[in-house]
Amino acid sequence: MAEVVVIGAGVAGIQAALDLADHDVHVHLVEREPTIGGHMAQLDKTFPTNDCSMCILSPKMVEVARHPNITIHTCTEVESVAGEVGHFQVRLKKHPRFIDEEECNGCGDCIQICPVEVYNRFDAGIGVRKAIYKPHPQAIPDIVIKDNEHCIECGLCYDVCGRDAVLREDHEKEIDLSAASIVVATGYRTFDARNKPQLRYLAVPDVITSLEFERMINASGPTGGRIGRLSNGGTPRAIAFVQCVGSRDMSLHRPYCSGVCCMYAMKNAMLVREKYPDTDVIIFYNDIRAYGKGYEEYYERAKGMGIRFIRGLPGEVMEENECLVMVAENTETGEVERHHVDLVVLSVGLEPADGADAIAERLGIPRGENGFYSVDDEKIGPVLTPRPGIYVAGTATAPRDIPDSVAMGEAAAMRAYIDAIRAN
Ligand SMILES: Cc1cc2nc3c(=O)[nH]c(=O)nc-3n(C[C@H](O)[C@H](O)[C@H](O)COP(=O)(O)OP(=O)(O)OC[C@H]3O[C@@H](n4cnc5c(N)ncnc54)[C@H](O)[C@@H]3O)c2cc1C
Repeated sequence: MAEVVVIGAGVAGIQAALDLADHDVHVHLVEREPTIGGHMAQLDKTFPTNDCSMCILSPKMVEVARHPNITIHTCTEVESVAGEVGHFQVRLKKHPRFIDEEECNGCGDCIQICPVEVYNRFDAGIGVRKAIYKPHPQAIPDIVIKDNEHCIECGLCYDVCGRDAVLREDHEKEIDLSAASIVVATGYRTFDARNKPQLRYLAVPDVITSLEFERMINASGPTGGRIGRLSNGGTPRAIAFVQCVGSRDMSLHRPYCSGVCCMYAMKNAMLVREKYPDTDVIIFYNDIRAYGKGYEEYYERAKGMGIRFIRGLPGEVMEENECLVMVAENTETGEVERHHVDLVVLSVGLEPADGADAIAERLGIPRGENGFYSVDDEKIGPVLTPRPGIYVAGTATAPRDIPDSVAMGEAAAMRAYIDAIRAN
């Protein structure tokens, strides 16, 4: 059976893997995190329908796990790629999980007993996890990982595991594969808001990022879906969303629009108004970019729900009597406005994933001036890199939403499939 490697198991990579596997191609799905799913697994609802994100993604993740033509390689990265279309030799490096993956049945007894709590990256900074953990309850593969950096070797997890699945020793492994073609879907990371110190992220507890807000409003997130101030736990009476944090900002060398922030801010503002109808919600924006199918109507719906849109970005966030003060010039009225709010949500932009430069080098594919992988022709070859047999999909190429990322995953899968049948 022909083989294809898909790098990155966010929604774009998952879609590519499923399409290929359904066409009798064996897929090696390479993900560096301990679970597949990518950013979509962290989201609460998805615009423009406000469907639950995991309700859409989780069945696809389960399908990947059950598919006989897909091998999932988690905690794994690509070390090197040699050869050419039809005959690539791919070397993977699998990082230690300190768990016997065959034996662990994901029961979670070890998690219950572990006494160590550390910051949970999946909850984007507002939740904790144990030193032995699952990133989230619907993780695939449904097994734990031991974080040896924080493990205190108390021994409780070894004792409680009836299957001897927790390992004291583990080491990196090399895996060699051959593949007819490769799909790169390594996604994005969000802008680090500390690089805009005037917005006081991490200096003031009630300034959070949009991804943290997604976790906070999520019923299975660290607060059980309750929106609270991180300073005193109180329910905010006024919330401000600040757009273009790390996008369209020449001073930060990020001239591009991140494409999804207007829409996700409207989504979260609507969810607040639905849950807490008395909360005053303001969106400070540059321009509203609602370009997709049904998106303009979504914007109209948001306005109809009493969300206040102020065209102007606050220069800084100030503190005053337990409140946060935002001063912005409303560029529609020319007035300088001063607003007191309890919670500020920064709509952080999208940038290439960590390590995108190393992947580009190892695979011999180019990146554009903003660091995303570039293609030969955006119009008629949006997934084609200059290197035959290597295709790109999703936000690894530019900021984009879920429907576009999925469509690119499908397109890249078709291209990779053609190489696979030619090689066979
Ligand atoms: C706050 C926020 C809210 C959003 N809300 C919505 C919404 O409501 N609707 C919508 O349509 N879009 C929304 N988006 C955008 C959405 O998150 C993306 O469109 C989508 O998740 C992109 O999927 P992807 O597969 O391209 O990338 P990702 O989800 O980033 O997946 C990439 C995967 O590749 C892995 N990876 C990276 N590098 C490597 C490597 N070197 N080796 C192996 N694996 C690697 C990563 O760990 C990750 O699992 C939102 C974005 C944000 C920030």
